[in-house]
Amino acid sequence: MNDVKSGNVEFSVVIPVFNEVEVLKELRARLNTVLQGMDVAYEVVFVDDGSVDGSSKELKRFFEEDPHFVVVRLSRNFGHQYALTAGLHASGGKCVVMMDADLQDPPEVIPDFFKMWQEGYDVVIAQRRSRKEGRLRRLLFFLFYKVLGIVSDYPITLNAGVFGLMDQKVVQELVGISERNRFLPGLRSWLGFKQAFVLYDRENRTTGKPKQTFLRLLRYGFDAIFSFSYKPLRVSSCLGIIISGLCLLYAVSLVFLRIFNINVVPGFTTPTVAILFLGGVQLIAIGILGEYLCRIYDEVKRRPLYVIEEELRHSTRKDETTTIRTEKLVSADEI
Ligand code: UDP
Ligand code: MG
Repeated sequence: MNDVKSGNVEFSVVIPVFNEVEVLKELRARLNTVLQGMDVAYEVVFVDDGSVDGSSKELKRFFEEDPHFVVVRLSRNFGHQYALTAGLHASGGKCVVMMDADLQDPPEVIPDFFKMWQEGYDVVIAQRRSRKEGRLRRLLFFLFYKVLGIVSDYPITLNAGVFGLMDQKVVQELVGISERNRFLPGLRSWLGFKQAFVLYDRENRTTGKPKQTFLRLLRYGFDAIFSFSYKPLRVSSCLGIIISGLCLLYAVSLVFLRIFNINVVPGFTTPTVAILFLGGVQLIAIGILGEYLCRIYDEVKRRPLYVIEEELRHSTRKDETTTIRTEKLVSADEI
């Protein structure tokens, strides 16, 4: 066990990195200023989530130049939430901060988290007071959090991403959750513990494009809603019941009209509208079922959440630098 895992590090910062070469130098400089000013034994765990743009080389250089840096390289791009989980798993601090690499989460807020932790809070959640992103993105996030607030079966902190701090005992619980469809802010809220909130202004990206594509964000949003709510299923059953009820009433009224021969107009409009409408409702309901079904399928396959190709960390003694090659998480006969 190295010094990190034996508990010598008080403070870990976990940062997922996917093609962020333009921003890494500034990130390192700002982090160094903040962390060195805090006067604690710290480590920064970078998780290289299959970068192909030179980030890997840059991170390796960081590791070689500064013993505070740990680099976990995944075998391919697994996605933000999985990269963070890998980083949490590798972190050894008594408390751990999660943040993005693109400086949208300003490192300067970190000492406030640490203060709250020292005051006895186990989870410190950074809540966005404002966002400086594009209008469409802001609108979509606003709608997403509104919907999530309404449908979620558990209280989830709204307007909060992964940025924040957790005590190591909370981290242990979080990495112990093996759910594949991971919405970490939701899981963190679900875990409970003593929580505190810090308000901050979310910056725009310093450079580069967002690495979470629109489709990925959509999937992330769906994960949040379908993992934390059964309401979509209930809505589709309720809709089914209401529509069947209305159709029954309509059918009865048609029979009466026929019997008393009132206003009987032969035509196609009513059946066509009814068929199309019901067909649409059925497809939506099947789609919602499918969303749950594919998530259940993902869970039962029980594949590992990520695969580590290489882990670089300095060992206990300062004069000795080791590269730990961690074992693959899947063995050949499991595939
Ligand atoms: N990221 C990652 N893997 C991915 C996509 C993103 O590790 O597949 C990292 C990315 O480098 C950044 C963080 O996750 O540090 C957040 O990504 P991004 O800024 O694109 O997300 P957004 O701010 O749009 O939610
Ligand atoms: Mg970002």
